Amino acid sequence: MAQLLRQGSVGPDVRTLQTELNRQLFPRPNLAVDGIFGPLTKAAVVAFQRQDGLSPDGVVGPLTRAALGIPESSNPFTHAISLHFRSLTLTDVPFNTILSSTQAVYSQFGIRVDFGSGMSLGLDEDEADRFKQIDGQCNWTAAGEFFDVEQLGTAIPPGGIGVFFVERFQQALNGCGGHAPNRPACIVAKAGTRFCTAHEICHILLTSTFSPVHIDVATNLMHSVDLQRSAVPTLTQAQIDQVKRSPLCRRL
Ligand SMILES: [Zn+2]
Repeated sequence: MAQLLRQGSVGPDVRTLQTELNRQLFPRPNLAVDGIFGPLTKAAVVAFQRQDGLSPDGVVGPLTRAALGIPESSNPFTHAISLHFRSLTLTDVPFNTILSSTQAVYSQFGIRVDFGSGMSLGLDEDEADRFKQIDGQCNWTAAGEFFDVEQLGTAIPPGGIGVFFVERFQQALNGCGGHAPNRPACIVAKAGTRFCTAHEICHILLTSTFSPVHIDVATNLMHSVDLQRSAVPTLTQAQIDQVKRSPLCRRL
């Protein structure tokens, strides 16, 4: 099945698209090759489609792909999750690295990670003070500050997963995937590694009832420690099966 690239798409195919647009469109659009299909990339796609006599809809389907010489993706996705980022702080690992690392983990299993939305939250002085450190316990009732943080900003649309970046936790944690019922969201500390977000999202997708919660094998994403890793972590078949059963992991 041909994969459409459109505004909101992210990943290596978008990077290839941006590179080819920079090469083949005149005048050159000088797009940032960041793998994020935003309004500038869309405008360049429309311009290229006009230049090439294609229907200028700004969506990269089979014809536009062929005209640009972008091969079909070899690993077609069967599932997708949609993430909505809400930042109270800048993270130590650049945001693009967090997103591409999360995509690298899930794409191994045919799961596409979509950038649903992102916003940095401007807090008033009292809120900023209160949420500088998230006090309380990470659990599946998400009471107190855990719950309150996850209410900040524009509401997470149904079917999406919220990812909230905060300064730090009172507990010795880099992230928490526990959340209130029907409000799928996780909180990740500034100091989290590049795969910390993927780990917390996996807690959400596995749900609170899945066991074992953690697997202390260094290559597994669900190691209990937020390890610095040199390779993309993996999942067991049981974990993959459970992740794909989540209603948040929609079948394409
Ligand atoms: Zn964990």
